[in-house]
Order: sequence, then structure tokens, then C-alpha cells
Amino acid sequence: MKTDVAIVGGGPGGSTLAMFLLREGIKPVIIEKETFPRYHIGESMTGECGGVVRALGLEEMMLKHRFPVKWGVKVWGPSGQNPWFVPVMKRTEAGELQETFTWQMRRSDFDKMMLDEAIARGADFVQGQATEPLLKDDGSVRGVRVKMADGGTQDIECEVLVDVSGQARWLSHTGLTNRAVLGHYAKQVAVFSQVTGAIRDEGKHRDDTLIFYKRLVHWAWFIPLDDETVSVGVVSPGTYFASKKESKRDFLVRELRELNPELSRRLPEINLTENTRAILNYSYEVYPFTGKGWMCIGDAHRFIDPIFSFGLYVTMKEAQFAAPAIKAYLEGAHRDEPNPFAQHQALALSGVDKYQDLIDGFWSEPYAFAYLVHRKHPDYAVDLFAGRVFNNDPNPALEGMRQIKQHGRKWWEEEDGNWWEEHAPTASEPITIDTSPEAPR
Ligand SMILES: Cc1cc2nc3c(=O)[nH]c(=O)nc-3n(C[C@H](O)[C@H](O)[C@H](O)COP(=O)(O)OP(=O)(O)OC[C@H]3O[C@@H](n4cnc5c(N)ncnc54)[C@H](O)[C@@H]3O)c2cc1C
Repeated sequence: MKTDVAIVGGGPGGSTLAMFLLREGIKPVIIEKETFPRYHIGESMTGECGGVVRALGLEEMMLKHRFPVKWGVKVWGPSGQNPWFVPVMKRTEAGELQETFTWQMRRSDFDKMMLDEAIARGADFVQGQATEPLLKDDGSVRGVRVKMADGGTQDIECEVLVDVSGQARWLSHTGLTNRAVLGHYAKQVAVFSQVTGAIRDEGKHRDDTLIFYKRLVHWAWFIPLDDETVSVGVVSPGTYFASKKESKRDFLVRELRELNPELSRRLPEINLTENTRAILNYSYEVYPFTGKGWMCIGDAHRFIDPIFSFGLYVTMKEAQFAAPAIKAYLEGAHRDEPNPFAQHQALALSGVDKYQDLIDGFWSEPYAFAYLVHRKHPDYAVDLFAGRVFNNDPNPALEGMRQIKQHGRKWWEEEDGNWWEEHAPTASEPITIDTSPEAPR
């Protein structure tokens, strides 16, 4: 089999890439090892992720599937009182902030919808597991070997090979690029399932995301998936999970009862309707993630932390950016350069590095972060949460996060002492983020 572009992974990143390539007149092949629908975690979109869905012309289909509509995120502090609300907002052409909505979705349904749509629009599909990249003598990619569902092997020749294999990090594992370096939140564990019978807000905000903060790097999510079902998950240090010596299920149930008073109130009974699953070591970085005839997109090269639901957006936005870069390459651009996709790599990093600063700022000083988000620069913070990070626009909220990361809370206390006395008298528990080992770049 011969194709211009082979995409390894038929998740949302792979399907998005296929659909944007088809718009460029390129017919790709998607290789997927699992049979869809299949379970996946990652059920809440940012505002700009909804923007990518709309750019693909899928808003009507999302509404037809009745994926829950998300207007914002409410974050509850450890006492279970006075939540902060971050609305989903877009920028109009005139640059004004305007209310909009995005979606929550059961990933088995969403991922199948996306893959089916990519195939319906013209992508070829191969059910099988990519096992190794095939290389030319000069080290550039010439194809991919696939173990087919029936046990046989197929070599697919391609000009460009794209790894969108998620946390499997397929190309990194094959040795085409470096091994992953642990990220700042690699020592965390997430334990999650789904419940029915939860108490939700009434009206428009019924399907919003709720975040319950317990202490540093220890929190829970509550993401509505349909009228009945809510995805719930607890994230904590791995050492805390290990110290409890409980099964995943027992750990989750007890944590849901104890973690935060407001979360306990919303779960009068805990009826788990899904298996309880856990993910460890989900924070990492692979670099470089582009090269001669290949690139990695989304989780295949980096995942930072699930706290603000950036994962889907990053993979889908990178896929959107990748399509014109691949088209230019197929037409001959940058072919003689050591890394023909260096510009794409820089663009992807320009956004994801900002998320790193945002998340590091949050975890190193949550109260200083709240000060920035709710008092000092709320509009700019809304831009960051929505996903408007792949640009060079100055963002004072982001600069503030970087100050927090560098100097801690002190800098902000000096800035506005009254606010601190009122809101965060003693509760801040700064941690030092473990930034070692450093990524090799
Ligand atoms: C605890 C946790 C909570 C999260 N919550 C959120 C959230 O609320 N919102 C959000 O936006 N993100 C969230 N994420 C991140 C989100 O899950 C991912 O960013 C997203 O799924 C990435 O999409 P993708 O298409 O790149 O990869 P995936 O969705 O992982 O898809 C990759 C596909 O590749 C296939 N594959 C893998 N290897 C091969 C191979 N060798 N050959 C063929 N096929 C292969 C897999 O079967 C899979 O279908 C969360 C992550 C974690 C760990």
C-alpha cells in the first residue's frame, strides 16, 4: 500500500489531522490498533478545542449527538466554599470577549464519531498496530510496518509518517527519536470511573466541569457525560496512593467521600458504573518530535497535567497546524533541511510551553494564581484557559504566572497586601516543583 501520509492512531488527534489533510487535498491512511468504540479518558474540552471542532464543521453533529454543553469550570477550594468560576469565552473579530460554550463527551462516542467522519470524508483506514517505521538510507522515513488484525504484516509506504498514538508514544518507543523525559507531574496517579446519581447544578450550568482542590497536587474532577452519568477522578501523589494500600476502587470511593465537603455533598451515594482505572507517570516530554518525514502530535510527544483539560485541545490544534506544514513538505518545501518540520515544532512548543508555565504557576502557588486569575488579569487568564496560546500576543496573566514560578507568592503579596489578608491569610502551601531531570533542549 502507498500513501502520502500515514497516521498512526485514530483518536481525536489522528482523525482531526486526517480531516484537515483532506481539506488540503491529501488523502491519508489512518492506522488504529483498537476496535472503536473503546474507552478513553479525557472528556472535557477547552473553549478553543470547541473552536477546532467548529472549524471542522462538526458543531451540528456534536449537538445532534447531545454531547453535554460546557459553559465554564467551577473550582472549589479545600473548605468546599466560595468557588471560582472560569467562563468559556471566545474573542470576537473586534477582540472583545464573548460568552460561548464548548463540550464534554464520553470519549468512546466522540472518538468513534470523529474516526467515522474522517473515513466518511475520504481517509483510508487500516485496522492494525504500527510496529516500526521504515527508513531510507539517509534516515528519512519511507513507510511504516503494520501488524494486521488477522496476524499478518503489511508495509505501508508513505512520504510523511505522523505519530498520534497518545500516551503509547509509539515513535519514541521505536527509537526513531529520544525516549521521553519525565515531566514535572510524573509522580502523580489519577484514579477514575463514572457515577450516576450525582447532584448537579440546575439550569445552564448543569453540565459544567467542577474541580475540587484538596491540597497541592491532590484534587478531583467531576465532568458530566450525559443526563445521568458523571466522570469522576482523583489525582494525588503516587506515594499517597501507595500509602493507602487500597484497591483502586476502594481508594476512589473513599477519596470521593473525604476529599472535599462540596464533592461529598454532590455524591450522596457512590454508584460506580464503569471500571475503576488508574494512570501513572502521565507527565513527560519527547524531544525532538519532528524530523525527516515524520512528526509526533499531542500526547505522542508531551503531556503536562490534566488539571485544566488542555490535552485534547493540544492534540487537535497541533493536528490543525500540521496539515498545511505537511502539504508544503509534499510540495517540496524544506526537503533539504535537517528538520523539514522545525517550524511546526517551534509553533507547537510556543503554545505548550505556555501551558507548562501556567500549570507550574498554579501548582507552585495556587493562591497567587487565584489572585492573578480573579483579581489582577481575569480577561487575559480567560484567554489562557480557553487555549489562545499559540500566538505572540502579550499576556500579562501569563507573565504573572512566570513571576509566580520564579519568585513565589511574595512578589504578589507586596503588590496587593489587602487582598492577601482577606483571601489567603495562611493557607498557601508552596511546593518546589521537581524540574529534574531536564528535558534535553
Ligand atoms: C487522567 C487524565 C485526565 C485527562 N483529562 C482530560 C480532559 O478532561 N480534557 C482533555 O482535553 N484532555 C484530558 N486528558 C488528556 C487526553 O486524554 C489526551 O490528551 C487525548 O486523548 C489525546 O488524544 P490523541 O488523539 O492524541 O491520543 P489518544 O486519544 O490516546 O489516541 C491514540 C490512539 O492511538 C492508538 N494507537 C496507539 N499505539 C498505536 C499503534 N502502535 N498502532 C496503531 N494505533 C495505535 C490507540 O489505540 C488510540 O486509539 C487527560 C489525560 C489524563 C491522563
